[in-house]
Amino acid sequence: MTDTRIPLAGVIGSPVAHSKSPALHGYWLQRYGIKGYYVPLDIGHMDLRQVLGTMPLMGFVGANVTIPHKEAVLKIADVVTDRAALIGAANTLIFRPDGRIHADNTDGAGFVANLRQNAPGWDPQSGPAAVLGAGGAARAIVAALIEVGVPEIRLSNRTRLRADNLRSDFGAKVVVYDWVQAGNMLEGCATVVNTTSLGMVGKPEFRVPLDALTPGAVVNDLVYAPLRTKFLDDAAERGCVTVDGLGMLLHQAAPGFERWFGIRPDVDEATRQAILSA
Ligand code: NAP
Repeated sequence: MTDTRIPLAGVIGSPVAHSKSPALHGYWLQRYGIKGYYVPLDIGHMDLRQVLGTMPLMGFVGANVTIPHKEAVLKIADVVTDRAALIGAANTLIFRPDGRIHADNTDGAGFVANLRQNAPGWDPQSGPAAVLGAGGAARAIVAALIEVGVPEIRLSNRTRLRADNLRSDFGAKVVVYDWVQAGNMLEGCATVVNTTSLGMVGKPEFRVPLDALTPGAVVNDLVYAPLRTKFLDDAAERGCVTVDGLGMLLHQAAPGFERWFGIRPDVDEATRQAILSA
C-alpha cells in the first residue's frame, strides 16, 4: 500500500446491519480528522479465506469479525495471539504490510477497561468473581478475569456441559455450579458478570435470584440493549456498583482503531453519546 492510499476497515459478519461498529469507528475517524472509512461487510456463505485474501488488495488495513466467522478466522490467520487461541475466537484482524493476517481478541481487554473506568474502586483480587453464562463472550471474560488475578471464578450456565468445557480449558480457578444454583454462588463475590443474552431486547427475562449479592460488589451486564437492564437495576437496589455493557463495546474497539488508523481513540462520554444517538 502506498502512503496516499485511503485506509479502509470494516466489520465482517452476517448479519451486520445491526452492528454499532461502523457508527463508532466513523465517529472516531471524523473526530480525529482521519481520511479513512469503516464499512459493514455482510459476508455470509462466501469463502472467508478468499474474502480475507482480497481485502488488503483493495486497501483494507484490518477488520472486526463477528458472527458467524469469529472462530473460523483463527484457521485462516497467519498469526493468532495467545489470548485469541485460548478464547477460541478472534474479533480483530490486522492486515500487515508483509501480507500476513494477525488475529486478536480484544473483548476481555474491553471488559476490564470498562470496569476500571466505570467502577474505579474495583479490585478484582479482593474476592471471587461470578460469571453467568458460558458462551463465546464468557470465554473472553473468564480469560480476562484470570489475567487480572481473581482468586476464583464461579461459573454457571443453563447448559452445564458448556460450563464444564470452559473449566477444562481454563483450569482449576473455575468452579462450576448448576444453573439452579446460580443465585447461591453470588454470595461473597466481589465481581458479578452476566454474559448470557437474558434481559436483552427480544430475549427472555433475567430471573436468577439476586438475594445473595454482597452490597458493594461490582456488577456488570454485557447486555447493552437496553442500556439499563433489570439485572443492573435489581443489583443497584441491593447496594451494588453497577456497570452497563456499552463501555465494553466501546473499549474493545479502541485497539483495532489504533492499529489501523494510528491514533488511540478516547472512550469518553462524547463517544458514548455519539453511539447512543446513532
Ligand atoms: P452465545 O455464545 O450465543 O451465548 C449465549 C449465552 O446465553 C449462553 O451462555 C446461553 O446458555 C445463555 N442463554 C441464552 N438463552 C438463555 C436462556 N433462555 N436461559 C438461560 N441462559 C440462556 O452469545 P455470546 O456471544 O456469548 O453473547 C452473550 C451476550 O453478551 C449477548 O447479549 C451479547 O450481545 C453480549 N455481548 C456484549 C458484548 C459487549 O461488548 N458489551 C460483547 C460480546 C457479547 P446455553 O449455553 O445454555 O445456551
